[in-house]
Amino acid sequence: MRRALTAAIAALTVTTAGGLVAGTPGQAAPPALGRPVPAAAPQPGGPGLGDSYFPDYGNGGYDVAHYDVRLRYDPATDLLTGTTTILARATQDLSRFNLDFLLDVESVRVNGWQATTAREGVHELAVTPRRAVTAGQQLTIVVRYSGVPSETLVGGYTGWTRTADGAMVVNEPEAAWWWFPSNDHPLDKATFDVSVSVPTGVEVISNGVQPRPPLPEAGNRTRWSWRTTSPTATYLSFLAIGQYDIVTDTAPNGQPVVNAYSASLGELGPAARASIERTAEVVEWCSGIFGPYPFEAQGGVAGPVDGINFALETQTRSVYGPGFWRRGANTYVVVHENAHQWFGNSVSLADWKDIWLNEGFASYAEWLWSEEQGEGTAQELFDFTYASYPADDEFWQVPPGAPGPGRIFDAAVYDRGAMTVHQLRLAIGDEAFFALLPAWTAAHRHGNATTAQFQALAERISGLDLDGFFTTWLLTPGRPDVPGAARKAGPPAEPRSWVKLRESHQLLAR
Ligand SMILES: [Zn+2]
Repeated sequence: MRRALTAAIAALTVTTAGGLVAGTPGQAAPPALGRPVPAAAPQPGGPGLGDSYFPDYGNGGYDVAHYDVRLRYDPATDLLTGTTTILARATQDLSRFNLDFLLDVESVRVNGWQATTAREGVHELAVTPRRAVTAGQQLTIVVRYSGVPSETLVGGYTGWTRTADGAMVVNEPEAAWWWFPSNDHPLDKATFDVSVSVPTGVEVISNGVQPRPPLPEAGNRTRWSWRTTSPTATYLSFLAIGQYDIVTDTAPNGQPVVNAYSASLGELGPAARASIERTAEVVEWCSGIFGPYPFEAQGGVAGPVDGINFALETQTRSVYGPGFWRRGANTYVVVHENAHQWFGNSVSLADWKDIWLNEGFASYAEWLWSEEQGEGTAQELFDFTYASYPADDEFWQVPPGAPGPGRIFDAAVYDRGAMTVHQLRLAIGDEAFFALLPAWTAAHRHGNATTAQFQALAERISGLDLDGFFTTWLLTPGRPDVPGAARKAGPPAEPRSWVKLRESHQLLAR
């Protein structure tokens, strides 16, 4: 979750998609050298993957298996240069295909042959290989590029945050555009190798594990390497570059833990550490409810005081802005982001419209943690949340199951999302509910899933018809009626966890 210009970008991309459909039929495909003429000519890959909110996010015609992102970065100038090698497989006969990317491209090669490129729309890079591509063919796409990402703007906005001692790229739903070319939609997950050369003395943190220690390079530079071996959505890969204290350990389940703390945090540092150092404990607790932890490493990054002001569940290693620590330690945001490792990262949405599947469950995990900590039960948090939004509050007009592209981080997605989960628990009973959660994360582990699939699984496990329930809670504007539970005499008492939960959600939701 982030506070950014989703609405502006949504408007831009809708315009772009229309323009692409109307104005850009595919270029004529070059003849396939040395091959028989195919029965049907290869077609251009689509400029999007059909997302109902962001139709030109991602691209059609190929499926990425791995990104090798090899960069050089200079904090003094914010100049980023690099080569990304994409290993992919064509899913159709292709005359050309698109990548999502914003920086200046020097060259693109496809299976060793220089390709031609053209800019289209907001973030589309159209690539025409010299030789047509056949369905099923392995593709090695090498893109060389450079740019100043903090000055590369879309609608006046950049997802790259330059800081006093470096930079960070942490964003949702779009972050990759500013640092590597990609198929930028959660429907196309891949593994990653990321390496960045920086001036010696600067730290670089990313996802997963370090396959080798930082290595010195010529010119008083050091190259940092990171690797993820689990499928990762493009928006969940990240960089944090600057002055960091890196703390490594081994979790109870044997996995590596890598935490990092910005040197700029000052008096916020102890509260950040008292929160993020509990990551392994939180992951173990989540595993007991949601099923086995789906990834190969754990950790957290406490960003600098001049970095992002939200948090994001970047895979294996969430990143937190400084605002969470201003009033002391806050384990609720650590629980929220780590619950996303199951809900959002392993089981990813197939369409951004279903964002409540991420945020509703991550927010509900906070309520369960509150109960575990003796700071208010999930029922008390439901009652208080429900009562805190009067029936005529605009909050109830945003249906979390279809919030609109400009409102995917609306408070309703988080709070009404969590309320929906709680009401589902009451409707189907604890036995079915606590069977449903690990069944869901197992059924779609490392994949994508929809609200309809969640409803179907909940119905199968509970034996109940839940169509009316989900329609009311997810899709119908207005405050749902809650019989009994919220009709106690007088207003509900404020749970002790409420202040921390409010603080977190004011930073997470827009
Ligand atoms: Zn979240």
